[in-house]
Amino acid sequence: MSGATMATVIDGNRIAQDVRAEIKAQASELKENNGVIPGLAVILVGEDPASKIYVGRKEKAAKEVGFLSREYLLPPDTQEDRIREIVIGLNADPEIHGILVQLPLPKHINPDVVIETIDPRKDVDGFHPFNIGGLFTGRPGHRACTPLGIIELLDRSGIAIEGKEAVIVGRSNIVGKPLALMLLNRHATVTICHTRTRDLPSVTKRADILVAAAGKAEMVRGDMVRQGAVVIDVGINRRLDGKLVGDVAFAEAADKASFITPVPGGVGPMTIAMLLHNTLEAARMAGSRGL
Ligand code: NDP
Repeated sequence: MSGATMATVIDGNRIAQDVRAEIKAQASELKENNGVIPGLAVILVGEDPASKIYVGRKEKAAKEVGFLSREYLLPPDTQEDRIREIVIGLNADPEIHGILVQLPLPKHINPDVVIETIDPRKDVDGFHPFNIGGLFTGRPGHRACTPLGIIELLDRSGIAIEGKEAVIVGRSNIVGKPLALMLLNRHATVTICHTRTRDLPSVTKRADILVAAAGKAEMVRGDMVRQGAVVIDVGINRRLDGKLVGDVAFAEAADKASFITPVPGGVGPMTIAMLLHNTLEAARMAGSRGL
């Protein structure tokens, strides 16, 4: 049977636009009061078309909010040592507050080694073990952008997290796991599901907040959603007919949910907004250290 009301669709584009406008205003204040212009360096190794698009978007977004943006486009056969050398140079560069190495890197480069070379204070992707440790223990530090964007979407939509039953489908290091910790730090009761989870629907149906981050087109069906749940769709999948869809069967889930994010236009735009947020924070901290 169809639900009584259709869900409210969370407009990630609008919320991300609000966040970017706030960051722009704060960046201009920082420049006026402290003479600091937030600087973001993005390193791209190779020719991956999706990565090129992401890097282009990040650069454009950084410029739009008045940041200094620097791009390092390196050939696919660049050696690990060369990338580390660039990162070490950027660590010492007072104009740069955020360093982002676009993943995935070519196979001959160990991403862990590269990420661990970044000064944790400039690790605006929040992937450095120091920052992950900070998240684990609830201490300050940069947080991974996509899960941070999800928390921001919930907060700005007036959705309380404390005491809620949150279920996340997916346990990756960039989405599922950090999001679980962020929700836990905000006092949700958190369950993480993965491919070995027994009877997935029985778990997802418990969720007040259900997050799909599995990378499987429309795998979360309406009958896996509790009536009135908040449904956050992280997935970005290209269907055979060319259509871009999430991990949630939108129409079915919207029939049951109280709130739902669309794909595109939900979580996606928040990721870059949070990258800008982390870069601004890094610049503020550097400013207060007199760097
Ligand atoms: P990964 O492939 O790294 O992880 C997927 C996770 O989902 C794994 O933990 C996997 O379980 C689990 N999973 C896969 N299929 C199932 C299933 N049928 N049932 C239960 N669990 C399942 O993906 P990412 O976390 O990197 O990304 C997830 C999705 O989010 C992708 O579509 C990606 O494109 C998108 N994404 C979107 C972003 C944005 O800005 N909007 C940013 C980052 C990602 P197991 O561990 O057992 O293999």
